[in-house]
Amino acid sequence: MPATLDPADHRRPLSDLNRQQLQEWAAGIGLPRFRAAQIYAALSRRGIQEFAGMTELPASLRRRLEEEYRLRALSVRVHLHSAADLSEKVLFGLRDGSAVETVLIRGENAGGRARHTVCVSSQVGCPAGCTFCATGLSGFTRNLTAGEIVDQVMFFSHRLQQEGARVSNVVFMGMGEPLLNVRAVREAVARLTDPVGLGLGARSITVSTVGIVPQVKSFADWSGQTNLAISLHAPNDDLRNQLVPYNRHFPIKDLLHAVSVYLERTRRRVSFEYVLLRGTNDRPAEAQQLAGLLRPYGGLAHVNLIPWNPFREGRFIRGEGPDANAFAEILRVAGINATIRHSKGLDISAACGQLRKTVADE
Ligand code: SF4
Repeated sequence: MPATLDPADHRRPLSDLNRQQLQEWAAGIGLPRFRAAQIYAALSRRGIQEFAGMTELPASLRRRLEEEYRLRALSVRVHLHSAADLSEKVLFGLRDGSAVETVLIRGENAGGRARHTVCVSSQVGCPAGCTFCATGLSGFTRNLTAGEIVDQVMFFSHRLQQEGARVSNVVFMGMGEPLLNVRAVREAVARLTDPVGLGLGARSITVSTVGIVPQVKSFADWSGQTNLAISLHAPNDDLRNQLVPYNRHFPIKDLLHAVSVYLERTRRRVSFEYVLLRGTNDRPAEAQQLAGLLRPYGGLAHVNLIPWNPFREGRFIRGEGPDANAFAEILRVAGINATIRHSKGLDISAACGQLRKTVADE
């Protein structure tokens, strides 16, 4: 993968084409169907990062492809490795000169099996403007295409295959509000779960949203077994308006009604993300209020408490330690599942938007 994309190179990324478009292209130049299947498998299953990796194709066909297409939609601008926990972060460059971040988080599931989670971006910047988030403070540029989203995963898929490992989970928790880019996110989920391609289980994918109410209500229409996470971060509108300005469009009452609609249809557990900001939203009173909001959902609600990752312009203090434990305990006593999520990659600016901002500021 190149370090930068030449803006004068107008070839379309081959990875932009879905399976059907690839078949149509192959048929259009008189190729047998199995050639289209080979190209698709190389792109979407093996995740090759160079045309030279398509060794099953005749050299003449590889040349033809390369004349007409670039292989991928992304270039690697910066690739950081955490010494502390082996997580990795890449700043990907896009053809228009903008950049997005993607993180690979390594861990284990409850059964002790390796878990490799790719946290993808869905937009360049983010219109939601959360005040504790480096991306939110940087404004919004544009939506990503499905190909640009899928290519973030395929980069790490290819990398993990070299180690004999595979991507196990994908979370839409990087830059951007996925439900403000539903068309591309939907197509990306379809492509990632295509059994002929990467073949991820839909249950291994999570879409996280600040709560775009109409899209939360219709999430069940297309998401199948895909998980829904709500970035709540505050238990009342006054506080949430300050932390998640999109709350002014969709206040908590409307958001929770939309979640109820989703739950009635799916009976699938919903995660509530709650970043812990010391002295702002992590006091016992807020925990009690949160418990009151989520009690009606019983075991169908799970709260992920996330100690805030500081960044230079951030004006909060990370909530952690005994206060975080006490917050979690109040929820548990109220019958609500709660987990404190231990941050990964603190040494590589793994929180959303930090790396892009650091590079832009240099
Ligand atoms: S936290 Fe997520 S939704 Fe909020 S501004 Fe950052 S990227 Fe956007």
